[in-house]
Amino acid sequence: MKPAAVQEFFRRLSAANPEPRSELEYVNPYTLLVAVVLSAQATDVGVNRATGPLFAVVTTPQQMVALGEEGLRGYIKTIGLFNTKAKNVIRLSELLIERHGGEVPRDREALEQLPGVGRKTANVVLNVAFGEETIAVDTHIFRVGNRTGLAPGKTPDAVEAKLLKAVPKLFRRHAHHWLILHGRYVCKARKPDCPICPVADLCAYKDKVIA
Ligand code: SF4
Repeated sequence: MKPAAVQEFFRRLSAANPEPRSELEYVNPYTLLVAVVLSAQATDVGVNRATGPLFAVVTTPQQMVALGEEGLRGYIKTIGLFNTKAKNVIRLSELLIERHGGEVPRDREALEQLPGVGRKTANVVLNVAFGEETIAVDTHIFRVGNRTGLAPGKTPDAVEAKLLKAVPKLFRRHAHHWLILHGRYVCKARKPDCPICPVADLCAYKDKVIA
């Protein structure tokens, strides 16, 4: 996609939703980190249903460690892979206390050393909690990047690198959310809603159907 088209692509998405927010619920950087770890292969709605009651009583790593793995499992057992996730959340909470004074570090390397935290999770936390211009490539962004021609790539890392180059500075802070929301609600996996898509004329998807 040509730079002028990329600019227009984000201008339209931003005009429709100037201040996009994460659909995951959280109250501070720590609960955001926990919510993102729990969201792997799960829906935000499903995670929110579990974390509502959890975050009403636990908002710090210390409280999480006091709750314990068994206690945590009770809150998150409706979420896929909950056994592994409970283990990871308790261990990462212990490590936050041991290494970072109970705070979530604003540091990619330190974040990626926590169990259950990969590049994508670190990108979400850096973007949402700390306002950094990172782009976490999830399944939606991967699909939208490839379909539209905005940032074609064979791996999430390749798509991320292309997006970081292509997205104009003005839009980098929120590009992550605009692309996720676009992929979740318009450019859907099985049946993209091309007839109502605000960027259809800019998109290179060869199978798009405009009614
Ligand atoms: S035109 Fe269709 S394929 Fe292209 S971005 Fe819009 S919904 Fe996705």
